[in-house]
Amino acid sequence: MARTILLVEDEPTLRETLAGNFERDGFRVLTAAGGQEALRRFRAEPSDLVLLDLMLPDLPGLDVCRIIRRESDVPILMLTARDSEIDKVVGLELGADDYVTKPFSLRELLARVHALLRRAEQRALESGAGALATVGRVQVDLAGHRLLRDGVPLAVKPKAFELLAFLVRHAGQVFTREQLLEHVWGYDYAGETRTVDVHVHWLRREIEEDPGAPIHLQTVRGTGYVLRRPAEERPAARAEG
Ligand code: CA
Repeated sequence: MARTILLVEDEPTLRETLAGNFERDGFRVLTAAGGQEALRRFRAEPSDLVLLDLMLPDLPGLDVCRIIRRESDVPILMLTARDSEIDKVVGLELGADDYVTKPFSLRELLARVHALLRRAEQRALESGAGALATVGRVQVDLAGHRLLRDGVPLAVKPKAFELLAFLVRHAGQVFTREQLLEHVWGYDYAGETRTVDVHVHWLRREIEEDPGAPIHLQTVRGTGYVLRRPAEERPAARAEG
């Protein structure tokens, strides 16, 4: 299920370039060339994230930000041409979650968008709102105990799901096979660590583009396994200042 970005930018070239790049990255992109249009589109069709230019011709980006924030806790990332501390602080105080200063690298922008979405998903998971956590080619519905691909539930063994759910909740932490047995299977399976490997093998076939070279459910040589999610794979390479 593609996530939707509302892109608010009055410069046509930048808007089209960004839209094309986000679409190539798997997003669905709604666009607006001004503040009023942004509000109309947002109210007509809620987005997973709003990318909002600060300088808009009709309604300033900061006003748009404040109005959307009153109506929704959608992540908002401000694009600003002015690199002044005041703008940054004001933007964030108005409820924006992050900002990038023009000119920015596309790679940095994508990394920040992924990081914001991941944080929003994590918040939703922690609050039990039942959001979906995307891992590679699947979406994990923790509350519903389902594994989905493009919104369609996959047949999954209960322990494979529990193993993945555990790793999603502890993304970035390395676990030994013994620890995973203890946490997921619930008791000491000493000598049965092969069970973990079998389930990891199965999960990789569902999750990874290339199960032979996994980038999400990784083996840590001599230790065990770790689940990597996008923001950790692509940390924002932000320049000084
Ligand atoms: Ca502008």
